[in-house]
Amino acid sequence: MIAKIINGIKIAKKIQKKLKKKILLRKKNKLIIPGLAVVLIGNDPSSKIYVKNKKIACNKIGIISKIYHLNDQITEKKIIKKIKKLNQNKKIHGILVQLPLPKKINTLNILKKISYKKDVDGFHPLNTGLLCQRKPNLRACTPLGIITLLRKYKIRLKGMHALVIGASNIVGRPMMLEFLLEGCTTTITHRFTKNIYKYIKNADLIVIAIGKAKFLKGEWIKKGAIIIDVGINKLKNGKIVGDVDFDSIYKKASYITPVPGGVGPMTVISLLKNTIFACEKYYDKNS
Ligand code: NAD
Repeated sequence: MIAKIINGIKIAKKIQKKLKKKILLRKKNKLIIPGLAVVLIGNDPSSKIYVKNKKIACNKIGIISKIYHLNDQITEKKIIKKIKKLNQNKKIHGILVQLPLPKKINTLNILKKISYKKDVDGFHPLNTGLLCQRKPNLRACTPLGIITLLRKYKIRLKGMHALVIGASNIVGRPMMLEFLLEGCTTTITHRFTKNIYKYIKNADLIVIAIGKAKFLKGEWIKKGAIIIDVGINKLKNGKIVGDVDFDSIYKKASYITPVPGGVGPMTVISLLKNTIFACEKYYDKNS
């Protein structure tokens, strides 16, 4: 069996076109233009690239974006003050604090202070709780992007055994909740899981997000399984690879996402969708 490649770039471009039209129509109808604030703390090179890419993505469809670059020596109190100001800002409808934060900052303390109405990363405890209660509101971007991809490829999720490898707050845990919502029988594994292979071999669908280059091997999976690779790992030679050993998986899976070009573009597009959603749901009536 040779896997079908799930093309995240193609799907993201199609959605991008639709969102661009939506913003144009909003302009024509004199509705408010969605605004996104990205708060970057410190100088982590990867974070700087991600923030820049988010700004470019906003520009492409006409969302107004502002980057607030704060010094890594800044205190928690001052970050919270900035967030409170952004919560009040009428031109801003989405706020994202780029993670990870410097070690001395308590991430949850910061995320909790973002208004849940502007929480376009979907990490506020209220939005996470709503997803847990089967009432999704603003949803974490990477899992939402993955669900969108699976829908676009008409993959029927109900009843599938979905396995999530990696249990982070930003990918694994919300992914598990998304799969439950879709009617999957869901298993989640992490670094303390014993005999992970027994879960892998039974899964119809695997999402892996652990940050370990080429970890998942073809011989471990069920024939015809669907494999979604979230990992982004830079090899010594500079090449970017996922958490999946593409060459061995490709011969046994039914579908596979490449890295780059699979999940990554869908994460960014979900952020744009969330910003428009927040603007429409919470701010249109006040425009
Ligand atoms: P994280 O470090 O916060 O969490 C990693 C998780 O993997 C933890 O739950 C840990 O227990 C688990 N884990 C580690 N080793 C394991 C093993 N051997 N077996 C099973 N589980 C194991 O990571 P994260 O922030 O969720 O990111 C994971 C990867 O996904 C990274 O490579 C990151 O760059 C990438 N990522 C990509 C996107 C995207 O849009 N494509 C978005 C977010 C993260």
